[in-house]
Amino acid sequence: MKVYDVIIIGGGQAGLSVAYFLRRSALEYLILDDHKEAGGAWLETWDDLKLFSPSEYSSLSGWAMPKSNEEYPTKAEFIKYLSAYENRYDFPIQRPVKVFQVEKENGLFITKTDKGDFYSKTLVSATGTANKPFIPKYPNATHFSGTQIHSVNYSNSDKFKDKNVLIVGGGNSGAQILAEVSKVAHTKWVTSNEPTFLPNDIDGRYLFNEATLKYLGKTIKHSKDHSVSLANIVMVKSVKEARSRDVLNAVRPFKEFYEHGVIWNDGTKEQFDAVIWCTGFRANLNHLESLNLTENNKINTEGTRSIKESNLWLVGYGNWTGFASATIYGVGKTARETVKEITALLKR
Ligand code: FAD
Repeated sequence: MKVYDVIIIGGGQAGLSVAYFLRRSALEYLILDDHKEAGGAWLETWDDLKLFSPSEYSSLSGWAMPKSNEEYPTKAEFIKYLSAYENRYDFPIQRPVKVFQVEKENGLFITKTDKGDFYSKTLVSATGTANKPFIPKYPNATHFSGTQIHSVNYSNSDKFKDKNVLIVGGGNSGAQILAEVSKVAHTKWVTSNEPTFLPNDIDGRYLFNEATLKYLGKTIKHSKDHSVSLANIVMVKSVKEARSRDVLNAVRPFKEFYEHGVIWNDGTKEQFDAVIWCTGFRANLNHLESLNLTENNKINTEGTRSIKESNLWLVGYGNWTGFASATIYGVGKTARETVKEITALLKR
């Protein structure tokens, strides 16, 4: 029976970042990923997605992303970079391998997959969030006869041409999808609070600088003196263009659905053909259920290490696994710490 030192579940940017630091150690590791090709969650995003930070702030550890042809890299450029990154470092990856469950027996993890069982001393879970789209609960949502899709299933605006479309969610996905769909359809935008648009000259690079300083326990004051967060909307070209058409006007949430649309808080009804939910994601931890560590869809960690199961690390899921760890720029720090801890444990 072959026993790996480390198995990494998930071959997206988080899994690759951990692999980057592991490959400098003498440990034997393997990445299992259920996609047929490189790219992780980026393969599931819409066709015209633009990253919200320039190439130099969209790079993984060790090798910078080649300069984009545009100010903000496209999804295709980033997937190409991830694929080249894998090849450059020749990471051991098996694809497609779907992990069903992880069990622990006699001090070893048994990772059960559609290609058989894999054994390891330690485990890194880096399965991202894309497989767990989140849709908030609204009364009578099932009575609505129109189309409902989550942003993860949105490819382009073609099927919304001339329709009445409600777009829900005030982050970058909501703003970018609204910008696209509003060119071909009648749109309305619903957000919980008034959306925060960043000034034109503040993009992902400033957010990441802010994130880095927060991580180090410091505060930042930048030129424009704006308080920024990773949830704020970056004015990429398509969103600026939508602003010039005056379509970036958001209203607060409705009360409930009815068969043909939604009912607003004042009781008025409005018809819609489709709702696009740009309401985010939750951590995809289904494969760890049998370890009985999950509470409220999270696992208690110190840094990235599970508190109850000290041979398990969780990387890339969000702030609870390290500040800005669900971003390209932020994940490297937590990956490096993770590998330090694994190496120290296995040396003993
Ligand atoms: P993933 O990329 O999801 O990788 C996890 C991999 O594990 C996937 O291949 C998945 O299929 C696989 N997997 C899952 N479950 C299993 C299983 N049971 N068995 C085997 N394999 C499994 N960040 C930025 O820094 N800049 C941006 O501009 C930016 N824009 C974004 C735009 C959108 C629309 C979204 C949704 C996110 C954006 N992000 C951005 C955030 C972030 O960079 C991504 O969410 C990132 O892809 C997360 O990487 P990951 O490796 O943690 O997860």
